[in-house]
Amino acid sequence: MNKENIWPIVGHRNVVKILQKGIVNKKLAHAYIFSGAEHLGKSLVADYFIRSVLCEKQDGSFCNSCEFCKSLDRKIYPDFYEIELEEGKKNISIEQIREVSEKISKSSFLGNYKIILIKNAESLSLGAHNSLLKTLEEPSKKTLFILTTDNLELIPETVQSRSEIINFYPVKNKEIFNYILEKGIDASLAEEVSRFSKGKPGVAINCLQNKKLIKDYKQEVFDFLDLLNSSLKERFDYLEKNIGKGKKFSEKSVLAKSVLDRWLNVFRDLLLSKNLAKDEISNIFAKERINLLSRKYSSKMLMSLIDKINKGKAYLNSNVNPQLVLENLILDF
Ligand SMILES: [Zn+2]
Repeated sequence: MNKENIWPIVGHRNVVKILQKGIVNKKLAHAYIFSGAEHLGKSLVADYFIRSVLCEKQDGSFCNSCEFCKSLDRKIYPDFYEIELEEGKKNISIEQIREVSEKISKSSFLGNYKIILIKNAESLSLGAHNSLLKTLEEPSKKTLFILTTDNLELIPETVQSRSEIINFYPVKNKEIFNYILEKGIDASLAEEVSRFSKGKPGVAINCLQNKKLIKDYKQEVFDFLDLLNSSLKERFDYLEKNIGKGKKFSEKSVLAKSVLDRWLNVFRDLLLSKNLAKDEISNIFAKERINLLSRKYSSKMLMSLIDKINKGKAYLNSNVNPQLVLENLILDF
């Protein structure tokens, strides 16, 4: 069996290779940080990694039939702990970490690995990070921490330095395209979905499960292209429609982030189209309009707008009023 392919995931061959090698050579780190944008497949890889670490086979794959595989499937493996952000909470608390640390300090039920998976580790509170650090500084045998994050910068240096950082990068378009084709989808839809997903297999899978996502997305792109030729009043109507009045600050902030991502995406396409790289654009369904519109801007203007939108995203991350951020930008287009 080709070891590279035994985890059914799209892309990330190097990551799989590193993790499988650790299992086969019995040289696992005490802690791994899976770092990369959301929807790349970090959680899925974590799942296969955990299975392969615990499985009796110990060859980097998992069998689905040994006692460990079965108990994982039934969610009754006693030494697996998943720590998540609780609903309505801002951070993963120190108590959540302490509780698990205490449990893993006791002896294992089955003599196999104790595994602690912390998703969205960037949301650990400072106290939780410190508590985790204490555990990482005195690692007990056969204990494995896996942290996933889409914002490595928010994980303290001290935690990072005690972990092996595994970087996840966007998957090649072609690989996502082939994956979709294998599912029996026709080539034109596969092309559209793979471009739309921009290297994120999770986005492609969501699209295939919910075709409305693509339809809505296309409409949003067309709305934005309309906006670039519209009056001031229409621009403010657009904002009203997209981030709405009367919504909570936190809701607006999330909506504003996705609006900015959409804008960035279109401006990048305009820049590509302007520089005769039309085949590279991601919104291929709107290529005629993008091509036409690109004549309205110079490359310098487009680059400056892209820069401003990126700054807008940074403002949102530091909790500046989303309405203000978008209003300021929209006057510049
Ligand atoms: Zn097994």
